[in-house]
Amino acid sequence: MKNHFEIREVKKEDKRTSFDFFVDGKALSEWLNINRFDLAFCDFDLDLVEVDKSKFPNYNRTKINKKAASRFLGNDQPPFNQFETNRIVLYRCHCGVDYCGIISFLLEKQDDLIIWKEITYENEDFIYVENKSYENDGFNCKEEIESKGLKPIKELRFDRSKYELEFKNYLNNYCA
Ligand SMILES: [Zn+2]
Repeated sequence: MKNHFEIREVKKEDKRTSFDFFVDGKALSEWLNINRFDLAFCDFDLDLVEVDKSKFPNYNRTKINKKAASRFLGNDQPPFNQFETNRIVLYRCHCGVDYCGIISFLLEKQDDLIIWKEITYENEDFIYVENKSYENDGFNCKEEIESKGLKPIKELRFDRSKYELEFKNYLNNYCA
């Protein structure tokens, strides 16, 4: 079974346009049971952000957006995260630091499919390692995930051409 994938604008403010992924018509953040705008998870790399050029002359948001799209398309290997694992970051803390806690997943690219695996939470105490679950077994990560009310997702499967088209449209419409 395949899931339906979309990239949608979810909020438009003065200097920020926020996006989310929609899976089978519902925001991914909702499936995960997190608040997309909570400080803990509001940093999303596809968001368009305008910054004060005089204060941050070297900040190039379009470059960040394009890099993120390339990562989600599986073209950026290994995908960068601060834990130096091959997982892709979806939502991170407003301060931009992965160690605070992120929602991340593993991307698998097949001829006709894009598969997202093990969409779940990580932080500096427990880094998710492929096929091994959490690295630090001594730490009760399940408890932490439960206390946050988070609902990890085992797997999502997307039609590759439709998935790529969503990113193509995003790049054409917002990063040209
Ligand atoms: Zn933080």
